[in-house]
Amino acid sequence: MSILVVGSVAFDSIETPFGQVDEVLGGSATYFSTSASFFTDVNLVAVVGEDFPDEHREMLAGRGVDLSGLQTSPGQTFRWKGRYGFDLNEAHTLDTQLNVFESFSPEIPESYKNAEYVFLANIDPELQLEVLQQVEKPKLIACDTMNFWIEGKREALVKTLAHVDVLVINEGEARQLADQPNLRKAAQTILALGPKSLVIKRGEYGVIMFSEHSIFSAPAYPLEEVFDPTGAGDTFAGGFIGYLASTRNLSEANIRQAIVFGSVMASFNVESFSLDRLKTLEYKEIEDRFREMKLLSDFEPIN
Ligand code: AMP
Repeated sequence: MSILVVGSVAFDSIETPFGQVDEVLGGSATYFSTSASFFTDVNLVAVVGEDFPDEHREMLAGRGVDLSGLQTSPGQTFRWKGRYGFDLNEAHTLDTQLNVFESFSPEIPESYKNAEYVFLANIDPELQLEVLQQVEKPKLIACDTMNFWIEGKREALVKTLAHVDVLVINEGEARQLADQPNLRKAAQTILALGPKSLVIKRGEYGVIMFSEHSIFSAPAYPLEEVFDPTGAGDTFAGGFIGYLASTRNLSEANIRQAIVFGSVMASFNVESFSLDRLKTLEYKEIEDRFREMKLLSDFEPIN
């Protein structure tokens, strides 16, 4: 079952304590699509400028990502500049240039409109809402956002959340959105806005999911070296929604497995800059690491 994703396709310039890169391929939809493509077909809706090279299109198409919804507009591709200190859990945005996104209006190709799984990757919440107005009746709508939009477009974001089944955001953003430091209380506030489940990404501490009747916590895979956390969240979401779409099963047990697949995908992505690790990844490595994740937090029940 294919997924429709709308989000950013970007050039990122990143500094981490271990190195620096300029204008490499990035963007929320790029990481999501590449990660989800290990599980299912992906239909990408985004915009790039005339400066976007064929090489990047070929990489995505080579992974089976359908690019008929990728518009090319006059002007420059979206650019994001970020820095991480030794606390790799927190990105410091140095510069955001919306460029072609300033006048972007997502047009969902006819053949994508009956999508059953929709992921609204990090992008202006007004655009996320425009996408929802064009799709027919998805089985699952998941959404990501970030501090940039929580601060700048809260009203539009709240409107979008009313239609969303699963919100996937990071810890700081959950606190900021709910205006509440305690995560469990923040989750109650956020679930009251519409989502049935809230998946909170906690960087090297893993993921915690809150739903009306359950809480599930999964660790992050303990890597010896984390090189660049950029895209970890979107790569997580790609594995998470990709697995759900490929199995077409929204039971609690399957959602928990999907969370672990998402965590596995994110753990590979942070091993190198940009999408470099995902480009060489094999499906067998994903399954092997999934099995290691099971052992990591397996323990016997008490009688
Ligand atoms: P994350 O998974 O949270 O690390 O997402 C990183 C990606 O988000 C980078 O590749 C950026 O290009 C992209 N990004 C950063 N800021 C924004 C924004 N305001 N809107 C959309 N995408 C963004």
